[in-house]
Amino acid sequence: MDSQSIATAAYIVASLLFILSLAGLSKHETARNGIIFGIAGMTIALIATFIAVADVADTTSVVLLVLAIAIGASIGLWRARIVEMTGMPELIALLHSFVGLAAVLVGWNGYLEHKPFALQSLENIHNAEVFIGVFIGAVTFTGSIIAYLKLSARMKSAPLVLPGKNWINLGALALFVVLTIAFVINPNIYLLIAVTVVALALGLHLVASIGGGDMPVVVSMLNSYSGWAAAASGFLLDNDLLIVTGALVGSSGAYLSYIMCQAMNRSFISVIAGGFGIAAPASADTDYGEHREITAEDTAELLINATSVIITPGYGMAVAQAQYPVADLVRKLRDRGVEVRFGIHPVAGRLPGHMNVLLAEAKVPYDIVLEMDEVNDDFTDTSVVLVIGANDTVNPAAADDPTSPIAGMPVLHVWEAHDVVVFKRSMAAGYAGVQNPLFFRDNSQMLFGDAKDKVEQIIRAL
Ligand code: NDP
Repeated sequence: MDSQSIATAAYIVASLLFILSLAGLSKHETARNGIIFGIAGMTIALIATFIAVADVADTTSVVLLVLAIAIGASIGLWRARIVEMTGMPELIALLHSFVGLAAVLVGWNGYLEHKPFALQSLENIHNAEVFIGVFIGAVTFTGSIIAYLKLSARMKSAPLVLPGKNWINLGALALFVVLTIAFVINPNIYLLIAVTVVALALGLHLVASIGGGDMPVVVSMLNSYSGWAAAASGFLLDNDLLIVTGALVGSSGAYLSYIMCQAMNRSFISVIAGGFGIAAPASADTDYGEHREITAEDTAELLINATSVIITPGYGMAVAQAQYPVADLVRKLRDRGVEVRFGIHPVAGRLPGHMNVLLAEAKVPYDIVLEMDEVNDDFTDTSVVLVIGANDTVNPAAADDPTSPIAGMPVLHVWEAHDVVVFKRSMAAGYAGVQNPLFFRDNSQMLFGDAKDKVEQIIRAL
């Protein structure tokens, strides 16, 4: 068997492993296996690609390939080892930007190094592939960089609202179509430069226009774009595995974005079109009155007397790394006969499934970790809710205030419980930058300080 046939066979096996990986990742119980399938698929794909290239390329190219793999793998291992769980979303956004950049480079290379086909129809298809690959890649590249800046708080999360922003996006798309037709008819470098610039600007504008609560959808949408960018590169490089993998990432990312839009009551089209129809938020400085504070000891007292407790964790639990003492607290309360459950909002934290991963890490039993829809009707019968580092996801303004930037997003109805204790360090707003009227409700009390320290103090007081 020649090396190309080995590579083709290996690519089929790798594609199957990637499909098994996605299937595994859809459930807590099978997620670990899903990761193993993914690693196995990627290892097979890399080895097969190496063998196929080594067979036809000269020594310099092989040395360059080994160098590229070694440098890339070392940087990847180093970053993955040091990244904090809270830094994961920004790392993912940055990685998406690399996929976008790679697609742009592959597209440009496809134009510069191309030996014309004898058939004009094949030539036209090739030119369209170059153009589409560069376009999707460039949108993904700048879009992901803006997402990275927003997620790492290097840029404000508020949406950029330029006058006629929807027309800017539609205009850029129309221009892309016109440029593509022109390029297929008469390919030249100026058109390629033009589409690269238009796409870079569009990616920048699309993501900058999306603010606050809609960022989770943007992250999964860029994930999807990066998949399509990889698939476009696959066509240009004539690499079936890249086409299959790109399509898997592209379609699963699109489906995840759709599910998240439904969970957040957002229009899918509005989000993928860069916040289409979203107006600038009204800057209301409402006076909500005074908040009350509580100590860790008094919280312990409340918990001892409770019959049922729901914990709603958020991004602050991840920052404080409070999941371990929280798991300990849960064990202690359950040993005393208190019913304890978790209510997980679909966009709590900074990446889909963030809270589930943290709680699984701390060995909290899966059967007490419930989705928002499964607990939202139970708050009225709950003695105490512990809001541990969550803010936007428990904000009643989403339900009551139509002018709020997060209006319409379903939230956990924690305020319906008998007592609510909010763990945070200050009165600062959450990710969406909106004040939370929950903190001023009569049944709410603030437990100020680092969530991990406070939970440990409660355990000691118990
Ligand atoms: P938020 O980001 O709204 O709020 C987190 C809260 O945690 C803050 O109010 C902060 O208050 C508090 N906090 C931070 N550090 C600590 C600490 N060490 N100890 C105690 N408290 C702390 O959290 P939610 O999880 O409720 O909401 C997630 C938000 O992120 C949503 O707006 C969502 O749209 C967005 N988002 C989600 C993504 C996803 O895929 N899940 C992706 C991108 C964005 P203080 O500073 O006062 O301590």
